[in-house]
Amino acid sequence: MVKAVVGANWGDEGKGKITDMLAQKADIVIRFQGGANAGHTIVNNYGKFALHTLPSGVFYGHVTNIIGNGVALNVPRLFEEISELTARNVPAPHIMISDRAQIVMPYHILLDGYEEERLAGKSFGSTKSGIAPFYSDKFAKIGFQVSELFDEELLKEKVVRVCELKNVLLEHLYHKELIRPEDLLETLHTYREMVRPYVANVSAFLDEAVKAGKSILLEGQLGTMKDPDHGIYPMVTSSSTLAAYGAIGAGIPPYEIRQIIAVTKAYSSAVGAGAFVSEIFGDEAEELRRRGGDGGEYGATTGRPRRMGWYDCVASRYGCRLQGATDVALTVLDVLGYLDEIPVCTGYEIDGQVTTEFPVTCRLEKAKPVLTVLPGWKCEIRGIRQYEQLPENCRKYIEFIEAQIGYPITMVSNGPGREDIIYRQSSLR
Ligand code: GDP
Repeated sequence: MVKAVVGANWGDEGKGKITDMLAQKADIVIRFQGGANAGHTIVNNYGKFALHTLPSGVFYGHVTNIIGNGVALNVPRLFEEISELTARNVPAPHIMISDRAQIVMPYHILLDGYEEERLAGKSFGSTKSGIAPFYSDKFAKIGFQVSELFDEELLKEKVVRVCELKNVLLEHLYHKELIRPEDLLETLHTYREMVRPYVANVSAFLDEAVKAGKSILLEGQLGTMKDPDHGIYPMVTSSSTLAAYGAIGAGIPPYEIRQIIAVTKAYSSAVGAGAFVSEIFGDEAEELRRRGGDGGEYGATTGRPRRMGWYDCVASRYGCRLQGATDVALTVLDVLGYLDEIPVCTGYEIDGQVTTEFPVTCRLEKAKPVLTVLPGWKCEIRGIRQYEQLPENCRKYIEFIEAQIGYPITMVSNGPGREDIIYRQSSLR
């Protein structure tokens, strides 16, 4: 059985926590897209961890953790992360790296930084991890696939070709130091020895696993709004964040994905530039940011303060639809217990007309939020395990959101830990 855990919003919805929780009963966890540009925060019996490249199953000895072919693999970062875990007493995880994954090269990271510098105020809010240059090169067919590390003749020829190309940009556009093929080749040799023990034909492995009835989790990064096709282009990431892409980025048949858990946070947050309709500002935002998540809403990779907003039903309904949600996990609900009243965005007003359909970016930029204000529950809900034991106003909040988005909320997360979860029967099922 293959399940996907994906984001219905802008990312940072708490996917890491849900994956870590579900990994308890999984055999395999796979990252299928993205790179070290975002992070999942996980709190468990070993402590608090920010994972960037590693799949969230790494805390369990029984789980095989796979870097799928769709991932932007930053080799040194991957190994740094593994060392961080083992230094904190987590047993060395079982890792498998697809021989078809491609490698984030040092010049991808350089070029990402230089381009941000060049664009200055008009930048896309890149985390400068090399992700956009990496995916551009992958589709321009000048990327380095892991399998190619083991073909010396090919490497020698390719580093020369790539340096010629990159040096034109470095010299004439960015006026920076040039790169040398021999340095690149040496770096690739180092990477080859690092990944060698882990490289495998992942799609063949997964084919066997599916046939043997293993439990497989596809772990998405970011969320629907950051998808290059269906998100808020161009303020998006460079690989698809949708569950459907799990089939491609892992190498399994699409029809094997039977459950799609779209994770959505009980309020909104976003990082980087771009339209964010339900955004709030000033003290109201600061208070939610400070109380949010587990220790505040600050980027797991960058430490940047996240932009904050009320729950957005328009974006979330669209987010769940594009993910193909079979289940919705509503997370971080416990944080809202301090509010007397909780506004929820239920429509967008664009040019004087109210719509509930998420628009294309140029229209989105004109949208103003239509808010419905719900009563708060004014108490701590952490520790509750039964849905019926939640305060009435809290249940009403959940049910209001469920009715608005039209997808079944079957899990409610009321704390960062693995055990902070309430399973719920939804009438939409
Ligand atoms: P991800 O990238 O989608 O995994 O999200 P992040 O890790 O960036 O953000 C989620 C943050 O919220 C992390 O700090 C989690 O530990 C925390 N978190 C997840 N679920 C809950 C919850 O139900 N309640 C609280 N208070 N924190 C949570």
